[in-house]
Amino acid sequence: MLSTMQDVSLTVTRILQHGMTIHGKSQITTWTGEAEPQRRSFAETGERAVRLANALRDELGVVGDQRVATLMWNNGEHVEAYFAIPSMGAVLHTLNLRLPPEQLIWIVNHAADRVVIANGSLLPLLAPLLPHLPTVEHVVVAGPGDRSLLDGCDPQVHEYEELIADRPTTFDWPDIDERSAAALCYTSGTTGEPKGVAYSHRSIYLHSMQVNMAESMGLTDQDTTLVVVPQFHVNAWGLPHATFMTGINMLMPDRFLQPAPLAEMIERERPTHAAAVPTIWQGLLAEVTANPRDLSSMAQVTIGGSACPPALMEAYDRLGVRLCHAWGMTETSPLGTMARPPAGLTPEEEWPYRITQGRLPASVEARLVGPSGEVLAWDGESAGELEVRGAWIAGSYYGGAGGENFRPEDKVSEDGWLKTGDVGVISPEGFLTLTDRAKDVIKSGGEWISSVDLENALMAHPEVAEAAVVAVPDERWGERPLATVVLTEGATVSYTDLRDFLAQSIAKWQLPERWALVPAVPKTSVGKFDKKVIRKSYADGELE
Ligand code: ADP
Repeated sequence: MLSTMQDVSLTVTRILQHGMTIHGKSQITTWTGEAEPQRRSFAETGERAVRLANALRDELGVVGDQRVATLMWNNGEHVEAYFAIPSMGAVLHTLNLRLPPEQLIWIVNHAADRVVIANGSLLPLLAPLLPHLPTVEHVVVAGPGDRSLLDGCDPQVHEYEELIADRPTTFDWPDIDERSAAALCYTSGTTGEPKGVAYSHRSIYLHSMQVNMAESMGLTDQDTTLVVVPQFHVNAWGLPHATFMTGINMLMPDRFLQPAPLAEMIERERPTHAAAVPTIWQGLLAEVTANPRDLSSMAQVTIGGSACPPALMEAYDRLGVRLCHAWGMTETSPLGTMARPPAGLTPEEEWPYRITQGRLPASVEARLVGPSGEVLAWDGESAGELEVRGAWIAGSYYGGAGGENFRPEDKVSEDGWLKTGDVGVISPEGFLTLTDRAKDVIKSGGEWISSVDLENALMAHPEVAEAAVVAVPDERWGERPLATVVLTEGATVSYTDLRDFLAQSIAKWQLPERWALVPAVPKTSVGKFDKKVIRKSYADGELE
């Protein structure tokens, strides 16, 4: 029997229309570095998005599912692009501005982007790439920056504000199949070549509803979220879409991502929530330890993208800021799990749940697969590779303009599950604890050592600012851990002290013999420890 329900498409257009009307008064505040930030309501942002869609169609000739790329910080104009492009049926392609030039060129050509909307401050990055981007016909520039860098370039150059001025404030939005692509994001390539993940209107819609559930971020129009996680990093974890659904106000840092301006923003604008990877929160902690600021408005922070060291969580607890750990990846839109403890527990009882990667929501199915392909029990002990399935989980990768989408064997199982490359255990209550990435586990004498456990234990030492542990080749054991550490200012601790400290919580055979003091742990384009670079530096003899 068929249901009697209406068959309504779940689209980004619907989210835009809802946000700009029902939540028209909610605000997007963008940091400008001036005395006053830029403030625009959702109504105004929505209207500007409509005008942008008209300009893209009428002036730039964007039709069908052509790709329109953005090379932008988190700001009001980027949110306009987020809604205008998919709503008109085109595909928003967010470019990661921290990627090396060759990768950006590869990605733009792979996606065959026709238009790039760029922030003026990023023209020094974009201009030298343009001769290598034959599909790009138009560059639209928004915000401050030196336009002369584009003098003599092939694509036509447009000024964002002039382009959208005097355009109609209505658009006859097309009927969009909810399964069609709305946004394209390439994985940041921490462990290989970038791969394109094309989110559908439906996946974005459903994911936004999950972000807004109380078991996930659970914010309302009384909240303001500080969106530090970049809009080019998995759609800023879904926040721009989720906020238009429920009217959550947004505070956008633009290019002011250093700890000092972030601290100032938080003190002045008093967001109630924020989202970013652990390295951002490490940096902010060091900043407010040196120059105290009032962070107390920020009751809740979503932290993920790499493992959150428990010591960091404790440090923020002391500041009245609760870090809530989440796991996800580009392929999972990204919300996979979120660590909200079950009800009715004391803070001490909550702790073991808070330091997991979190609990699975209803729409994400998971299984753990052992070395011979066997599905493992959720007993909190059997460790295997995590595989997931669901309405906002990628089933394949974008094949490029005119190419077929593809399902690489190492990423998608024969029966359609996404192989995450993460290794962990799941408790009977559905809480996931990751022990490592399959590629980062240290395989020593037939046993596995978790690099994350060693890092977390090291970062609990008061004189360790950051620590990254990688596997290095060892004649006798196959692999052994190398610990690279960044010490706090004025620290006097020795390697032997650190080893003794680790020995309090880590088995003796797992303790690293190889150590390196580094000024900073190398980071990937999205702020994660770059273990490829550390391993290579060690092999090249740069680290000793
Ligand atoms: P990339 O794979 O290029 O780094 P992603 O942002 O998609 O780009 O990264 C996803 C990966 O990040 C996950 O597969 C996992 O290894 C890691 N990750 C994300 N969140 C967490 C977390 N809370 N704890 C541990 N690892 C995490």
